[in-house]
Amino acid sequence: MSTQFVYRFGGEKAEGDVSMKSLLGGKGAGLAEMSNLGLPVPPGFTITTPACVHFFTNEEQWPDTLWSDSLEGLKHIEAITGKVFGDPENPLLVSVRSGAPVSMPGMMDTVLNLGLNDITVEGLAARSGNARFAYDSYRRFITMFGDVVLGIHYTRFARVTDQVRQGKEESKLSVDELKILIKELKAVIEEGHGSFPEHPEDQLRLAISAVFRSFNTPRARYYRKSQDIPDDTGTAVNIQAMVFGNMGDTSATGVCFTRDPKNGEKLFFGEWLPNAQGEDVVAGTHTPGPLTGDQKGAEGTPLSEAMPTIFGELDVIQKTLEAHFKDMQDIEFTVEDNQLYLLQTRTGKRTPAAAVQIAVDMVNEGLITPDEALGRIDPASLEMVLRPMLDPDAKRKVIARGLDASPGAATGRVVFHSDEAQELAERGENVILVRMETSPEDIQGMTVSTGILTSRGGQTSHAAVVARGMGRPCVVGCSEIAVDYARALFYAGDTVVRRGDWITIDGGTGEIMEGKVPTIAPPTDSGAMAQLLGWADEKARLEVRANADNGSDAARARSLGAVGIGLCRTEHMFFQPDALRAMRQMILAKDDRTRLRALNEILPIQRESFCEIFRAMDGLPVTVRLLDPPLHEFLPDRAEDVNSVAQDLGVRTDVLTERLKELHEMNPMMGHRGCRIGVTAPEIYQTQVRAIFEAACQLTREGVTVIPEVMIPLVATDAELRICREYAVNIAEEVMTEQGTTIDYRVGTMIELPRAALLAKEIAKHADFFSFGTNDLTQMTYGFSRDDMGKFLTPYLGAGILSDSPLAKFDIEGVGQLVQMGTERGRHSNARLKVGVCGEHGGDPKGVGFFHRSGLDYVSCSPFRVPVARLAAAHAALGLL
Ligand code: PEP
Ligand code: MG
Repeated sequence: MSTQFVYRFGGEKAEGDVSMKSLLGGKGAGLAEMSNLGLPVPPGFTITTPACVHFFTNEEQWPDTLWSDSLEGLKHIEAITGKVFGDPENPLLVSVRSGAPVSMPGMMDTVLNLGLNDITVEGLAARSGNARFAYDSYRRFITMFGDVVLGIHYTRFARVTDQVRQGKEESKLSVDELKILIKELKAVIEEGHGSFPEHPEDQLRLAISAVFRSFNTPRARYYRKSQDIPDDTGTAVNIQAMVFGNMGDTSATGVCFTRDPKNGEKLFFGEWLPNAQGEDVVAGTHTPGPLTGDQKGAEGTPLSEAMPTIFGELDVIQKTLEAHFKDMQDIEFTVEDNQLYLLQTRTGKRTPAAAVQIAVDMVNEGLITPDEALGRIDPASLEMVLRPMLDPDAKRKVIARGLDASPGAATGRVVFHSDEAQELAERGENVILVRMETSPEDIQGMTVSTGILTSRGGQTSHAAVVARGMGRPCVVGCSEIAVDYARALFYAGDTVVRRGDWITIDGGTGEIMEGKVPTIAPPTDSGAMAQLLGWADEKARLEVRANADNGSDAARARSLGAVGIGLCRTEHMFFQPDALRAMRQMILAKDDRTRLRALNEILPIQRESFCEIFRAMDGLPVTVRLLDPPLHEFLPDRAEDVNSVAQDLGVRTDVLTERLKELHEMNPMMGHRGCRIGVTAPEIYQTQVRAIFEAACQLTREGVTVIPEVMIPLVATDAELRICREYAVNIAEEVMTEQGTTIDYRVGTMIELPRAALLAKEIAKHADFFSFGTNDLTQMTYGFSRDDMGKFLTPYLGAGILSDSPLAKFDIEGVGQLVQMGTERGRHSNARLKVGVCGEHGGDPKGVGFFHRSGLDYVSCSPFRVPVARLAAAHAALGLL
């Protein structure tokens, strides 16, 4: 049996349905399902994704039966519409649209009004009784076909159009002017390509191949990579009878969402344009009107007033579609001469905050289960829900206002082109991409920008939709600014903002501000977020702790749901000015007495810091890591600093210089650091342990429940841990006896070196817990320096040697083996061993999935990523990671 490459829809039924997304693409499956639901969908047929894959794997050859099946598909459309493809009297026109299994808004190509030529245009004019409309459609078709199918840059058509219209709006061109324009546009094609294919079947064949090809353009590939979308699916192609929103005042086109895609509010939301075609709304070239009067900030007549009957029908349909698909829908519609048609329904892109709100509301409305709600939210996106907001008390000069397209505040240097954005971003600068409107060509620039501002376009323009999908702050339709690309500046009233100047945008209010406006951390979470994460905690087995080094970070982590501190790095405590001086004295001390005196000065400073953290974490465990970095990090390295430090400490410069030489290391990350300091200079760790337990005893007396966990870093042998543990326990017991207080505590180690993972069985005999320090473990396993790998990371990524930085995305394949081995071997000799991760990977969702499968007890990550890790832990338990 031959493979079916064409699936028909329309006439209130379809061969496919919504379950066939991978075969029919999102758009094709949606059109089929809407037809099955009896909704007014113009008839058409979908060419399947395997046909596209065949095209790519067979040097752009079509499958044998595809063309004859497509002609059958056309007959199906003809039968329903009563029009005939290429007929001079009553011509059928079709749209040819892409539609991959995972939606890529605006990334691939579309051709509208296909089937027009010098003869059929006359038939269309006669039938519609509207010559202007017919010739307007024809000039649109030639431009689109020339650009998309024949590869002639659209600016060449735009130039000719500008010459002919001479300042007039396109919609005001007369039939004769349109005819002149059409001639000129065809001349552009003849120059660039040879000839314009007049035969509708040739047009269709070429357009289908072009849509296949558009799946593999660099921009589409880049988008898939940036969004983690598979690269080998191919796109489906939908050929559908045209309906016309540009037939006059009784016609219109629009895009709508069943809920607000910015904040998730249950509000029918969208935009429309009278007498226009769909691309006019999406391209952002016209600023459209709202659907209802309830839409805040929108200008223009609402559809509900201009076409109340159509609006009523649309409102019923949107409710049907949302209830049917059980998710927020993004719907495209066209009104042709007072008749409503649906052209698309798909799962709507939304901001991360809206995604949470919608998922939780849908559970509360009984549409989906809590597990489904959890599965719908990408854990990594939660980091963006907690984006900084503008400090409400900060001074600001608002220079313009636009539409609030995607919330969040962003500050950066102004750039006007995507390549400039990439250049500056590569240098580590924050940039705001300012454009009149964006097009899919801007995708790379948008990805690297901290914020996006456009002077045109509405809430459903390309810029708005893509920015929301990326979780990037965005203001669109800011007509108060005038962008001048040529001079690389924009005007906002009297203010001139040039390339490289700093601005701040607030995508939640639509405000544009001069300069940098300070930001503050966002409110901890919304009610919806708390509810979602509550469900996540019920599902998850892994606990989530946070890495925090002071009381306020600890409190913040706790408010974000951390159930302990998994890593308190204590080095910063030695950098406080008083402590630093004492530390330097300690390092330079010639005798024990001086060394101990210096350490005694450090003791109360550390005790105070521990008190703050323990207080914030009342009742929860706090893992304190003893000093880790090499000692020379506490000494000056520039000559001028050496002089002033020597003076401050009252030592001779040459003595200090000598000591600096002694401490110098060729490779300090593999040098005298971590427990190696604990072994060779035990007084430092002893002082820290004393500070921990004095703080713990003091707070216990105050009624605070303190659960300290002392963690020894960078252990490679069991002897190192045995030695450090022995004296740590002695000091702890000594302090508790002195203070007459008993505290439940643990002593454990970090596993940061491959040898420690290999010998975990021996090491675990001296440990109550293991915490995998996957930052060092990754660096030591690859032999890539954490500090230097930036030099070769980009070429390595480019050459496909690495797919991500292993320091950001956990290397399951390699380092993962050490984590598994270390856990198994450690638990073999110590069944009660608690095992966690405290490297950056504790907040990497894929890493969290792996740690769950490896049977770890907890992950620990930076406070902002705690919600990410909580949701990832639930996804892991649900088998989604
Ligand atoms: C680690 O190595 O993973 C770790 C948490 O320690 P640090 O990043 O401080 O070296
Ligand atoms: Mg480390």
